[in-house]
Amino acid sequence: MSERESLKEFDIIARYFSDIVPAASANTSVTVELGVGDDCAVLNLPDGHRLALSIDTLVAGRHFPADANAFDIAQRAVAVAVSDLAAMGATPLAFTLAICLPEVDSRWLQAFSHGLRKAAQVYSLPLIGGDTTKGPLTITVQVHGTLAVGCGLKRSGASSGDRIFVSGTLGDGAAALAVVDPSVQFGTTPLSTEHLTEKQRAYFHQQFYAPTAQINLGQSLLSVASAAIDISDGLLADLGHICKASGLGALIQMDKLPLSQELLALATAQLPGNNADDALDCALGYALCGGDDYELCFTVAEQQCQTMIEVAAQLGVAITEIGEMVVGDAVVCLDKNGKPMYFSHRGYQHF
Ligand code: ADP
Ligand code: MG
Repeated sequence: MSERESLKEFDIIARYFSDIVPAASANTSVTVELGVGDDCAVLNLPDGHRLALSIDTLVAGRHFPADANAFDIAQRAVAVAVSDLAAMGATPLAFTLAICLPEVDSRWLQAFSHGLRKAAQVYSLPLIGGDTTKGPLTITVQVHGTLAVGCGLKRSGASSGDRIFVSGTLGDGAAALAVVDPSVQFGTTPLSTEHLTEKQRAYFHQQFYAPTAQINLGQSLLSVASAAIDISDGLLADLGHICKASGLGALIQMDKLPLSQELLALATAQLPGNNADDALDCALGYALCGGDDYELCFTVAEQQCQTMIEVAAQLGVAITEIGEMVVGDAVVCLDKNGKPMYFSHRGYQHF
């Protein structure tokens, strides 16, 4: 950067990125040996632990509407990245932020900084460094977490006969994208969102901009689940990754997929005059093939299922058993009569 721009750059860092630390976090001062301001950040790892890393980039106009609220963008950027720590069962440690800004807009930056602070608080995750450059609005968050040696929820651990669970409800993330950005058309069923009530609209807004990364659930899975993944590209695609890594297939019972009332209402409003079955099919399409849910999909040996259900109940996290891992190499969806169903669209593809 030129000298003038570089002065601005350091101003921006000092004002908006240098003090993003969760309040009253006993761990932060122990963990962060050196944060924002030097050439590198330096972290202390607890004895007997390893570092788990993941990075995600959000591009304006592609991953979120370019004119979205900066507070919301910041929260989403952190939550999406933290979701990968959740899927691994890792404990959040810290995050770094590489941001490309088209211009210096202090109101935007202030709101963005507040969003970062909120997310840092929610996930107990201090911002320890990053990079600030000029260009099209792009936000890259790298999250760092810890895992005790020998622990971690890989995609490859499932066995035939293991039960498949998901947390929360499915399909809301993709539907939420249609709500926050009506220019987006998903698959073959464009969504009209004009019939939504304010409450339903607020629900989808929350799903899109502040999805809940399932950190507590992920950690509780460490001793119970055999494999896990977060659902970012749609259930079919992401469960497909568990299948591939574990060398197995999966059967999904479609009537078990957890759907929100809001998604069903949205689907019903698309199809005036049509019957409830059509609305259900539309919602199931979102649940299977939509992305951006950031719920966890995980597999559990049959004899561990009762423990799993109790653990989730204690955490207050809804989980649903949706099917079973089987010998094979495909994800097959079964209708309520046990007959296979076919879907043409297999989750979000970037290219
Ligand atoms: P360097 O030239 O050594 O890469 P920079 O000038 O890019 O350092 O950054 C100065 C300091 O500010 C570093 O500690 C860096 O980690 C931090 N920093 C830069 N941009 C950000 C950001 N967007 N968020 C958090 N910290 C940042
Ligand atoms: Mg730099």
